[in-house]
Amino acid sequence: MTGRTSREIIEQTEKFGAHNYHSKEVVIIKGQGARVTDPEGREYFDMLSAYSALNFGHRHPEIVAAAKEQLDKVTLTSRAFHSELLGDFCEKLGALTGKQMVLPMNTGAEGVETALKTARRWGNFVKGVKDGKQNIICCRNNFHGRTISIITMSTDETARKGFAPFTDGFTVVDYGDPEAVERAITDDTVAFLFEPIQGEAGIIVPPDGYLAAVREICTRRGILMIADEVQTGFARTGDMFACMHENVTPDVYVLGKALGGGIMPVSAVVADRDVLGVFDAGSHGSTFGGNPLACAVALKAMEILVRDDYPAMAREKGARFVKALRGIHNDEIKEIRGRGLLIGVEFTRDASDYVAKLASCGVLAKETHESTIRFAPPVNIPDEELDEACDRIRRALER
Ligand SMILES: *Cc1c(COP(=O)(O)O)cnc(C)c1O
Repeated sequence: MTGRTSREIIEQTEKFGAHNYHSKEVVIIKGQGARVTDPEGREYFDMLSAYSALNFGHRHPEIVAAAKEQLDKVTLTSRAFHSELLGDFCEKLGALTGKQMVLPMNTGAEGVETALKTARRWGNFVKGVKDGKQNIICCRNNFHGRTISIITMSTDETARKGFAPFTDGFTVVDYGDPEAVERAITDDTVAFLFEPIQGEAGIIVPPDGYLAAVREICTRRGILMIADEVQTGFARTGDMFACMHENVTPDVYVLGKALGGGIMPVSAVVADRDVLGVFDAGSHGSTFGGNPLACAVALKAMEILVRDDYPAMAREKGARFVKALRGIHNDEIKEIRGRGLLIGVEFTRDASDYVAKLASCGVLAKETHESTIRFAPPVNIPDEELDEACDRIRRALER
């Protein structure tokens, strides 16, 4: 169907689709790089990038070509059989993270679930915690996905209401406070799960030294440090992984979003053999996890990340962006924070009017937690386009 208006498309979606999202009133029918177009031919800069799943922009030509090439060979085998690219994918992602083993899944939530299972099994098999007693420490205002176990960790009532009974085995501590982690550890603690920057909570950057302090505590107390880098990973914050900002290596990485190159859901848990080795045949799996099409796009995405030095791009373009944002005069802007190209602009009030103004000026962004607008354009946005986007943002936000 072509030629339909945005209104018609939105009405149909609202009528037949469940209302588990309150999407902005913009319909995207085409995307290229950092630009998207709606049915009426209006053009926007995409400054959300599908929550960092589009670090390479829309339809990166080389990733699209890799997908097309694989579409002509084989797309799905299941793990009942071997496929050609899974070994390449695991080896390359292992090299990128400095880890020995990779377990492929599809969505970020599945990656987090896999990390929880990893930690519990490691706790039982390696650390000797009684099965059923394993406890995982997580952080207030976390976002790790939407499954039942994951929302058990959530402190956001909207995400939890009506979904009980929940899962046992989690302890919540304040984010940004290493002492709180230390105090929460017991003999049954197997892991500490955290986001190096809390994205959905409103781009909350922890105090300097937090990651290093938590690393030291996890090592000394013999628990796994699990970094959920689903949103922060793959150059978004100006380092290949956000933990690198403090030269910290977690025991386990959970990765997703950008790993799929903007084309496929691809996620993974990455760790050394003494940790991921706890899985044996039949203990975990996924029909689509590590499928040939996913491996083809992820391999190309990782090649581009390194070859084109995406971390440097995120640092340079992030600095350019923040400088432009700081030049905007608006006494309702409370704080501009973030790292690399993951930037939050916090207002003294609900920011949804500003989000609507941004859209009418041709900039797509979305507020998180009412008062903070997240800006996270594709990492490879050309400087001229970034400057143009900044002009439009100034027009929308200046008072
Ligand atoms: C998006 C996100 C997830 C969940 O990923 P899905 O692919 O939506 O399941 C998990 N953790 C973090 C930090 C995220 O930003």
